[in-house]
Amino acid sequence: MMLRLSAIALLGLSFSAVAEGPHWTYEGQHGPAHWSQLEAGFKECSLGHTQSPIDVRGAKPDANAPELGFTYAAQPLRIVNNGHTIQVNETAGTLTVGDHVYKLVQFHFHSPSEEHVKGHPYDMVAHLVHKDDAGKLAVVAVLFKQGHENPTLKTVFANMPVAAGPEHLVDSASVNVADLLPAQHGYYHYLGSLTTPPCSEQVSWYVLKQPVELSAAQLKGFHRLYNHNNRPIQPSNGRPIIEHS
Ligand SMILES: [Zn+2]
Repeated sequence: MMLRLSAIALLGLSFSAVAEGPHWTYEGQHGPAHWSQLEAGFKECSLGHTQSPIDVRGAKPDANAPELGFTYAAQPLRIVNNGHTIQVNETAGTLTVGDHVYKLVQFHFHSPSEEHVKGHPYDMVAHLVHKDDAGKLAVVAVLFKQGHENPTLKTVFANMPVAAGPEHLVDSASVNVADLLPAQHGYYHYLGSLTTPPCSEQVSWYVLKQPVELSAAQLKGFHRLYNHNNRPIQPSNGRPIIEHS
């Protein structure tokens, strides 16, 4: 009886996850090349001129580029498998760029990395999504390469919901996003878009130049749920890219 109830519960969850919006994927008929045709609200995916991700190259060093300020804190893990990635929802933490303050909203993962740097993709990327009071988005990208086990990811990946569904609150697990950041906060900055439908533009991107590590086993663990959940590189159309060392 218990088994049967869980099967019904799982079924319910997958239906509600699918019912949330038009079905889009990373391959096939609903893949990136077709996103703009799936819904009127997705037009920007093909009509936009400053789409993400891009191959970061030709960046101009700018000695006056502001430092990034992070005030992140440990909080109980709120984790969701949304059918496209694993996402951790956040209720505390800020990103400050100069005097501009953004609140941390969530972070999630793509593998391989969506961004390339000088033609080079990384094994994975975490997108730390922030929003200011006017609703403008700033995303910090943390690149991952294979190496040592990442202790912060260990906590997150140990609690990944296997099936798409609603958020899980894991009181016993606590994560501080600050522990995912590299030691150096030098970055590439450009204007881009969401990398998923509706591909909305005017998103400020900050790609941290120093990658962090995760183990081969951790990468494999993520790939059991999501592999190649990365939108292809978009034309940069000559948009300026600033480098902060
Ligand atoms: Zn993302």
